[in-house]
Amino acid sequence: MKHRRQSIDTAVIHAGQIRPRIGRAVVPPIFRTSIYEYTGETSYDGQGYSRLNTTPNHRTLHARLAALENAEAALVAGSGMAAITTGILTVCKSGDHLLMLDSPYGGTRAIATDDLPRLGVEVTFIDGNDPASWLARLRPNTKGIYVESISNPLMKVPDLEAAVGFARQHGLVSMIDSTFATPVNFRPAEIGFDLIFHSATKYLNGHTDLIAGAIIGRRELVEKVHHRLNHLGGMLDPESCSLLERGIKTLALRVRRQNESALKIAQFLSGHPRIERVNYPGLPHNIGHAIAAALFDGFGGMLSFEIAGGHAAALRFIGRLTIPVNAVSLGGVESLVILPAVTAYASTPKAEREALGITDGLVRMSVGIEDPAELLDDIRQALES
Ligand SMILES: *Cc1c(COP(=O)(O)O)cnc(C)c1O
Repeated sequence: MKHRRQSIDTAVIHAGQIRPRIGRAVVPPIFRTSIYEYTGETSYDGQGYSRLNTTPNHRTLHARLAALENAEAALVAGSGMAAITTGILTVCKSGDHLLMLDSPYGGTRAIATDDLPRLGVEVTFIDGNDPASWLARLRPNTKGIYVESISNPLMKVPDLEAAVGFARQHGLVSMIDSTFATPVNFRPAEIGFDLIFHSATKYLNGHTDLIAGAIIGRRELVEKVHHRLNHLGGMLDPESCSLLERGIKTLALRVRRQNESALKIAQFLSGHPRIERVNYPGLPHNIGHAIAAALFDGFGGMLSFEIAGGHAAALRFIGRLTIPVNAVSLGGVESLVILPAVTAYASTPKAEREALGITDGLVRMSVGIEDPAELLDDIRQALES
């Protein structure tokens, strides 16, 4: 485990600041220029052109994100999906094979089932909590193993140390989408993950006003992803870099509050007669709770639960809530609720959906930073009125 030089509370504010401060500005200016004077650069990736992710806004963010994840290097991208696809396409080329967690983020699942096969990359899904089953799925051309820190919408925590161990044993690149955990709760590089992805749209920015992604990890790999991203063009514009840098400053404050509020809500719902099941990594019955308890500093702000009475009851509940907004996405300062069966899984056949545990009455909640007592009161009245 690498020694963290600065606590995350300090790093979110200061890590990566370019010194001396540009024009003495305490908050770095936005570099709107798309081109820079030529000063003898010899590599393509070093040219002064904003698509190449080399503006001072990019460099500040890259250093800050690497510090937060306690990793060697970082790179931002135009979206979480740009980060994930560019990362996977750096690890896998035509003829290669990838092992992937069986219930990844919907967009990632679509890449695995639709886009990667068209490019000649085969994907086999694995049960993240059954490492003994992985070896039978390994092939001579397997290049990577891809998991998520907390899976959506059932909030299962895969056997993360087993994934790193398996990758090392078989010469694979270990990859993880750590959007749900955030570097406040878990830093995958500290247990040996090679590449870490984030939808920075969610917790890292935290204010629901931009789309961005990040790739973090071993320098040599991040540099390869950077080169590929420069070719594919999925850069983040400097304006969004600046907004993201601002959002990150409150990451630790926000996520700790969200950890506390989500745990309180999960515990309240667990004891409520109208709730059939609660999925939250902080509850002892949750799949992967022991893993989360051992590796995480907090259980996160995401939970899901099944209301007695199925789809109609879940719709009534959502309709009666006054604080959480019924909307997709997650990780912002505002609480959100959504029914996964009619959103991310709308196109999955009902039988397949239910086999995955995504029932018509399942409600997913992203807990915001509102007053926790008022949130609980609102949830209680929506369940009981
Ligand atoms: C939202 C999300 C993504 C995709 O990120 P975008 O920024 O929307 O492209 C990937 N993984 C997870 C876990 C997400 O929640």
